[in-house]
Amino acid sequence: MVQRCPEGAVQDLSQVQDGHLDGVDDICSLSIVTEAALLHTVRVRSFRQQIYTRVARILISVNPFHSLPIYSAKYLKDFQDAKDSFDLQPHIYGTGHDALRGLAEGNKDQAIVISGESGAGKTESAKFLLSYVAECVKGRDLHGNGALHGLEARVLQTNPILESFGNAMTTRNANSSRFGKWLDLRFSQALGMKGCQITSYLLEVTRVCGQSEGERGFHIFFQLLQASNEGALKFLGLKDPSSYRYLKNSVLSAPGIDDRQNFADLRHAFNLLGFPEEEQMQAFQILAGILNLGNLEFFSTEDEEELRLEGDEPLLAAARQLRLPLEQLRQGLLRRKVVTGRDAIETYLRLDQARAARDGLSRMLYGRLFDWLIQRMNDGLEISNGHHPDGKEGRPNGTAPRLLGILDISGFESFATNSLEQLLINLSNEELQLQFNEAVFKSEIEDCLKEGIDLGATIQYEDNSDVVALIDGRGGMLDMLDEELAMPKATDATFVNKVLKAHSPSERLIVPKFQGTVGFGIQHYAATVTYSCDGFLEKNADRLPLETVADLLQASELPLLQEIGQSLEQAQRTSSPQRGRQSRSATCRFRNSLRQLMAKIQASETHYVRCIKPNAQNRPKEFTSVMVHEQLRYSGVLEAVRIRKQGFSCRMLFEEFLLRYRCLTLLAPGSSDRGATVQKLLEWAAEKLAVPGLRLGSRRSLTGMAAN
Ligand code: ADP
Ligand code: MG
Repeated sequence: MVQRCPEGAVQDLSQVQDGHLDGVDDICSLSIVTEAALLHTVRVRSFRQQIYTRVARILISVNPFHSLPIYSAKYLKDFQDAKDSFDLQPHIYGTGHDALRGLAEGNKDQAIVISGESGAGKTESAKFLLSYVAECVKGRDLHGNGALHGLEARVLQTNPILESFGNAMTTRNANSSRFGKWLDLRFSQALGMKGCQITSYLLEVTRVCGQSEGERGFHIFFQLLQASNEGALKFLGLKDPSSYRYLKNSVLSAPGIDDRQNFADLRHAFNLLGFPEEEQMQAFQILAGILNLGNLEFFSTEDEEELRLEGDEPLLAAARQLRLPLEQLRQGLLRRKVVTGRDAIETYLRLDQARAARDGLSRMLYGRLFDWLIQRMNDGLEISNGHHPDGKEGRPNGTAPRLLGILDISGFESFATNSLEQLLINLSNEELQLQFNEAVFKSEIEDCLKEGIDLGATIQYEDNSDVVALIDGRGGMLDMLDEELAMPKATDATFVNKVLKAHSPSERLIVPKFQGTVGFGIQHYAATVTYSCDGFLEKNADRLPLETVADLLQASELPLLQEIGQSLEQAQRTSSPQRGRQSRSATCRFRNSLRQLMAKIQASETHYVRCIKPNAQNRPKEFTSVMVHEQLRYSGVLEAVRIRKQGFSCRMLFEEFLLRYRCLTLLAPGSSDRGATVQKLLEWAAEKLAVPGLRLGSRRSLTGMAAN
């Protein structure tokens, strides 16, 4: 692992004095590729407002935090017209260009993996990519099928919906995506757009019920509250944010975010994507219902025999908005069945259980609403499914569609306290890193092979498969966490003990210093992270908030809630008795979706965009080197540089070499053939000067000077 401190890197800057190469487009055109050179180049370029830099096939993107005139129609056209994106400045459109070219030329699917920390510019990059791709393929392949018209425009309209429901203001980013997403764009052989499927990962539903200081709930709540005094939404009877427990501690407005305008955009997007007005209203009713549910408060009677609601007003309002039978909702929230032997008796919940059930119901409703929205968007964006004119489902003209995937997912996370969510995010980053290293490593070897140079075992890369196995392998942490679900006396502490017993000593697993700490550390590829395992079991069990919730929702008059109720019931029925809870666990579902994602990426030619946040204050023209260095490490770019250094970090064209070392040509015999002259010079240098590691490429370049 590369762990040089940034100060060290800065002292190393003497190596960067390549004069005319200051701030080059492509790091790999520097004669010596080092960490310091990378940091220096990215810095110099970002001050020149050149936010993009290439490191071979990786695009580094530094968030400028102000709008730049580089996404205009002219830029779009320049990239569209370019033969090779390398002829132009590094740019996110260039990545789009490469991916489309990959689709056009080869038979391989393409994937663009965008990563970076919160606020680094991933979602903006994904949007620029999508608009570039949509613009390039616009109107192609109509084949007289009117249904295709405007698909590109509709795909772009998924953004306002995803952002209203999935984004929120955090202390790091006023428009932070609280979920990961994979867009699967499908194309015909002629590269006409055929469809788009969205997959989401790990929506942060806990945000529905409360937020940390300085943060806000999901944008949609604020949009709705702003708009609810207008005619069509008056029936929701919404009040201002301070009236709702779930929003009381929220910051009310987010800088740079216009809730009113965004709501208008959302409605426009809903209409364009064919969401009927009734469905939109149902979604808003569910949101209003959630806000009212949040206001429910309970108390125990003095003898602690009974649990009651404090005032009926919020319950009435929630039942009204969710169109639920009032008494059924009340009883569902207050009581549960306890089975003792052959008898089942109804008891009241404890106060804390009732509160947890209330919040659990709200989170579940929001999560299911989000899933439903995505499902509905996907249904509307799948042109070739079922109703393609030639009737071949999903395979227009009998050939498989070509796929271009775009991944926008949270980068590596290490906070003061890290929980199961961070473990899962970091696991996905480990998997992506493993795949990334292999791809960079392979391309490095291929580059050299093209020059006729066999690197053999010279290059080694940091292998993190042991971390992946520790967390995700057979008998690994997550398997053990699932096993605890079947143990009647399991607690977070018993889980931690079992993990430590089974897996230590291990370089990757760090045993807590103090006995009794319910947690452990993991040495990830990027850094060591300490996880606190309080609540792991509960989060993984992902229990239904109320026992009766499937029945309750099916009793609603809202078709959308009935649908959710049915799918809950179906899930209960279909989960196999043996695997039972395990197969329904939260981590199990995530692992399955991660596996599918990785399989898709593995089967594709992958392009990498590494987004960098240059300062913590989100200010333009500020560059905190220490922060950037850390992100370059987390994102694997430094590892890519290290891999390159191990091979041949210095690569020069024959003429460049001859120009630089012309004085030596006096000492060694020359030849009219450039390659032969260089060869002779190298032999001479190896013999006389004992310089090891110089190798000659066969074609046009010299690939020489092993760096270490
Ligand atoms: P992430 O998805 O990585 O959390 P975002 O894509 O939401 O970050 O970017 C955060 C903010 O940074 C955006 O709302 C925007 O203001 C700014 N930003 C990001 N990329 C660019 C860009 N290329 N040009 C101008 N501003 C940008
Ligand atoms: Mg984002």
